[in-house]
Amino acid sequence: MGHKKQGALIVVDENDELQDLRHKGEEINADLNQQLIETIFFKNSPLHDGAMIITGDKIETAASILPISQSESLPKNFGLRHRAAMGISERTNVVAVVVSEETGVITAFHKGSFQSELDYISLKNYLAEHVR
Ligand code: ATP
Ligand code: MG
Repeated sequence: MGHKKQGALIVVDENDELQDLRHKGEEINADLNQQLIETIFFKNSPLHDGAMIITGDKIETAASILPISQSESLPKNFGLRHRAAMGISERTNVVAVVVSEETGVITAFHKGSFQSELDYISLKNYLAEHVR
């Protein structure tokens, strides 16, 4: 999705912490599936806006609205998608992953920190290290 500059915001909520988040979005409740993820984030999809929440091997919701980080120390090119990923990572133990629609760059957020310019391998390592 990075190569295609297809914007995405995916939250890995391994411990099901986001149950009570208001505006949780549209229920999907489908098995994890690469094609479905790409279809949901395709620009014309009605569900492409907002965050997808994944728990275990299930896509729980799409189009979820997350709390926006008010941090003043974020890079200038972080707009609302990145601030939403940061915001949820500041409040919970989830890992949030952003694919930038503007640059294709992949950034992962956890506990109010982030790592940018991830590729397939480094994202996999990041998830292995931080999803628990
Ligand atoms: P990009 O690099 O992809 O442009 P960005 O960080 O610059 O990302 P914006 O350009 O402001 O962010 O992205 C807007 C998109 O971010 C919206 O279309 C929506 O899908 C998503 N978004 C905005 N606010 C929220 C929110 N509170 N919760 C979840 N997603 C949000
Ligand atoms: Mg933007």
